[in-house]
Amino acid sequence: MAKAKYHYNSHTLKYEKIKPSTRTWALRILGFLTSSFACALLLFYVGFTFFDSPREKQLQREVDQMVLQYNLMQERMKRIDASLESMQDRDDNIYRVIFEADPIDPDIRKAGFGGVNRYKNLEHFSNSALMIETAKKLDYITKALYVQSKSYDELTDMAKSKAEMMASIPAIQPVDSRKGHAGVSGFGTRIHPVYKIRKMHAGIDFAAPAGTPIYATGNGKVEAAGVDGGYGRRVVIDHGYSYKTLYGHMSRFTVKVGQQVKRGDLIGYVGNTGISTGPHVHYEVRKNNQPVNPINFIYNDLTPAEYVAILDAASQENQSFD
Ligand SMILES: [Zn+2]
Repeated sequence: MAKAKYHYNSHTLKYEKIKPSTRTWALRILGFLTSSFACALLLFYVGFTFFDSPREKQLQREVDQMVLQYNLMQERMKRIDASLESMQDRDDNIYRVIFEADPIDPDIRKAGFGGVNRYKNLEHFSNSALMIETAKKLDYITKALYVQSKSYDELTDMAKSKAEMMASIPAIQPVDSRKGHAGVSGFGTRIHPVYKIRKMHAGIDFAAPAGTPIYATGNGKVEAAGVDGGYGRRVVIDHGYSYKTLYGHMSRFTVKVGQQVKRGDLIGYVGNTGISTGPHVHYEVRKNNQPVNPINFIYNDLTPAEYVAILDAASQENQSFD
């Protein structure tokens, strides 16, 4: 209550109460309302800041629960990621090794999603960091699983063609050495039987009686069958997978250009045509048209002891039969 104000009336010699003007009344009421409003605001502020409403308490419990669930999801994703890594590891170091395929580029495996910020709608929340990290991890796992699944598709294709590849790549001797042959001269620098100089010998010579059958050493298609200079009568077979074989100095051949042959099919007979010092088959294996040592492609029908015997004979620096 405002204090009453008095003034001294020099005529009546009395203190007289001053009656407040309408303006003063208006100001007082306004002041009262303003301070009440300010008090109310302060009370609300204190109330809302330090004490939660039941609804807020409920919402807070829900947020806490969600944060907990996010953290649990992260834990589970860590375990999925570990399993995924083990799958990738086996893929690169076992399956791809079996099929002689290159491992998948780690950059492709680890690649994220570039370009636009995919996580913009998760920004500016109190738990943004947790939500964005979780979303990123989930995206990474999704992508890595996709790459892995594509890799398994590739492996399935390779497994399907592996049997065909194994049947095509040369793997036996062109003549049956177990029936006995007169000698073997190997791949590498050998003394030329006619010119008597050291010369690169691009194949293996299997000496055998004239007329001994010569077999295709892998499935393929006859690329050439005819006379070719020093090789005499020779057959070339294209096995696919960048492999070719050549059989030289035949007495005659029994296949035609374009004919499909299987491993072990008769293609001709041992002879002494071309530049040759005795009946033998000059056998070459070519990978990407480069001669490679045929000794590595004759293991299929040999016991280890037989293989070692041929290996020894072929590694002698003897004279070739050419
Ligand atoms: Zn030769």
